[in-house]
Amino acid sequence: MSSTTMTRQIVRIDEEACTGCGLCVSPCAEGAIQIIDGKAKVVREELCDGAGFCLGVCPTGALTIETREAVEFDHHAVEEHLAEAPKTYIPQVCFNCGTDEDHAPLLPVRHDGKSEWVCTRCLPALIHG
Ligand code: SF4
Repeated sequence: MSSTTMTRQIVRIDEEACTGCGLCVSPCAEGAIQIIDGKAKVVREELCDGAGFCLGVCPTGALTIETREAVEFDHHAVEEHLAEAPKTYIPQVCFNCGTDEDHAPLLPVRHDGKSEWVCTRCLPALIHG
């Protein structure tokens, strides 16, 4: 486990605003976010790369990116974590056709005032009308 720290971007979770809905868990490809005692948590700093894919799906705005001193992101720690961790996230489907992520890549999208997922098959039609 890495313990080297550096000033970098990392996800910040506002516990007051977090409802524990769990929607932010699956966008995190590194498995850095889990729901613990009803609140989203970054379980280990070295698993969060600060890319912010989780931000767009949060219905309450509880997620932001901050720059602070944190343990360095560690690809090897992510690989080990993903190999050990069971799938605990909420499976998502394309809001347009219902396809799940095992059958097409899903991208977060804002639609009709909501945070949704769209598959790559439906995305071109949304872009081009
Ligand atoms: S999506 Fe937002 S409200 Fe839901 S668990 Fe994650 S941080 Fe909390």
